[in-house]
Formats: sequence, structure tokens, C-alpha cells
Amino acid sequence: VILRIGRLVTCDGDPIDGTALLVRDGKVEAIGEFDAPPDELVLDHSDALVTPGLVDAHTHAAWIGSRAREYALRMAGADYETIAAQGGGIVASMNSVRAASVEELTTVLSARLKRMASMGVTAVEVKSGYGLDEKSEYKQLEAIARAAERKDVPAVVPTFLGLHALPPGQTDRRTYARHCRSWLDAIARDRLARFVDAYVDRSAFSVYDARPVLERARELGLGIRMHAGQFADVGAARLAAELGAASVDHLEHVSAEDAHALRAAGTRAVLLPVASFTLGQSPPPVALLRQAGLDLVVASDSNPGTAPTESLPLAMAMAVRNYGLSVTEALLGATRYAAQSLGLDSGWLRVGGPADLVVWDLPHENDLVQPWGVSRARLVLRAGVPIGP
Ligand SMILES: [Zn+2]
Repeated sequence: VILRIGRLVTCDGDPIDGTALLVRDGKVEAIGEFDAPPDELVLDHSDALVTPGLVDAHTHAAWIGSRAREYALRMAGADYETIAAQGGGIVASMNSVRAASVEELTTVLSARLKRMASMGVTAVEVKSGYGLDEKSEYKQLEAIARAAERKDVPAVVPTFLGLHALPPGQTDRRTYARHCRSWLDAIARDRLARFVDAYVDRSAFSVYDARPVLERARELGLGIRMHAGQFADVGAARLAAELGAASVDHLEHVSAEDAHALRAAGTRAVLLPVASFTLGQSPPPVALLRQAGLDLVVASDSNPGTAPTESLPLAMAMAVRNYGLSVTEALLGATRYAAQSLGLDSGWLRVGGPADLVVWDLPHENDLVQPWGVSRARLVLRAGVPIGP
């Protein structure tokens, strides 16, 4: 297929106006001037913007059930930690996931992934963390694996997040963490996760709880991601740097010293502006993160509690509006840096690279963060195959 393009943003150098792309066998075979093979199909998008496919590097998309009532309560004044203490929050989603079959979870997740594709997303990280016992975490990861087999949804990167919340009935976080650690062997053996995540914060797990789980993950060859500093800096970012984590996510509370340590460790900072907006929080110290030289990733955090959206473009718009990122930063954060944080070779367009790309019904990359709440993706290709809209 030959795509005639109005403006091409490759996320690897300057944008190119009035160009063309040759896509063959799932890859970008040529950009710009090339001898067009006579039998190729030519698609005229000479009025449109083309970017790499968006990569959502932090989602909890494998949930089921509704938490709309809890959302209404919170909007009426109850805070997140109070709702969690009353058995709402993550535990409410846990009950729904435990009650669902793997088929039901797969169906709901696949539909959600298709909607994400319709908004320009070609790769998604999906966490477990709503099972919170061995059988249910395994079931959730199995559903993620089944959805990932489909070719009509974004590529899926699975992450095990056993340390998401303390399940009811458990009173000791250290003991629960030991259980989680013992589940890792089977998860790694069955290739059900590429990363292990831990929610380390004031009213979540401590670095002492998380360390043995994450160290075991590393021994098994799994990458590390961490929910860090969302409500307070309790040492999560420092641990992430020490363990060479692929990403630290949230970072509303982080010190300059830790930001530099993260940079030195090659860890990327994943910003989740929808969550901080929902919770009415102040933005992370973006200037400090920039100064430390950290690559800034932007992700949706898609989940039924704190980020009730499936839209990475909405997160990009909020990163610009609320966090002060430039459009270029937001786009790099939702493509190239996001892909790098997940160990993917997508997220940028170059000859020989995967044809994961979006044709936008928009003239310029600045327009990407303007039309809030609607999808302006005209054509979404994953490995050269249309998956949206
Ligand atoms: Zn999260």
C-alpha cells in the first residue's frame, strides 16, 4: 500500500510535509521519494496528518463491572482513600473480576481494546491486579493473553500487578506480598506477564513489601514498573532506580535526587494526568523531571476508579493543559518513549520499522490535543493491517 500524506510526524526528526509512505508485509518499506511499484494500492491522505500508532503504557483495562456509583459518591465529596477503606475502589473491581469467567473477561477486554484502537492506539500495556489471589490473578492474566492473540486489536503487553491492593481477609501486607512472590514462577513459566508492577504508596504497599516481589521478578527475567509517589514519596522511586525499573508511574511526589537516580538507571517517567485530574491533585514536578533528563511518557491509566476513560488522546490533551507539556512532548510520550518503556520497536516510523501508524483527520500535530472527547483517527494500522476506527 502507498499512502500519500499531507504531513508526516515520524517521532524521529522533523515533520515532513507532502510525502508518501510505502507499506509492505507489515513494515514501512520506504518514505518520501521512491519508485512506486505499479501494482500497489494508493490511498490518498494528502490532506491528513500521519503519526506513529499511539502506545498506552499504563492501563488497568482488564476490569469488568461498573463503579459508577462510587464515582458519584466521590464527586459528592468522599475521597479516594476513604472509599478504599470502605471496601470500594480496587476491592469492588476485585469482586467483579473474581465473579467473572475468563471468557467474560476476555470479551470485555477485547471490546475495550477495539475502542482504544479506534482512537489511534496500536499497543497497550494491560495490568492484572483485580484478582488479588493466585487463581484470580492467573485468570485475569489468561484473559489478557487471550485478548492479545487477536490481530484486530492493539498489541498487548501484559503486566502482573499482584501488589495492587490488600485483599479483604488479609491483614498483613508483608504476608500477602510473600504470596504474590510465590505466584511469579508460574506466571513467568507460562509467559503471562512481561512486567511486574507494584503499587507503593502511603496507603498501599511499602518498599519493604515490594522489594522481594520485584527482585524475584528480575531474577525471572521480567521487567519492573512501579506506581510511585502518587500520594506521598515513601521511597518507591528510589527503589525503582535501584532495581533498574523500566518505568515509574504517577510521580506526583518525587525528589530531584531520585529523579536523577531514575535517569541514571534508564527508567522512564510515566505521567498519568487523567488520574491526577480526577483526584483533584496538583501536577507532578514536570520541570524537575525535565531537568533531570527523564523521558516523559504519557498514559491513560485507564481504570474504573481514578481514570474513567479509555482515551490516550484525552490523556495527551490533559498532559498539555494540566502538566504544561508541549504537543511534541505529549506525542513523543504517547509513542516513542512509551514504546521504549515497554520494550517495543514501534512508536516511531522509519524504513524497516513496523507499520504501526495512524492517519488522522487533522492537518497538524498541534490539532491532536484540541478536539477533546472525539476520535479523529481516520485509519489505524497495526503491522500494516487496519484495526481502526
Ligand atoms: Zn495505575
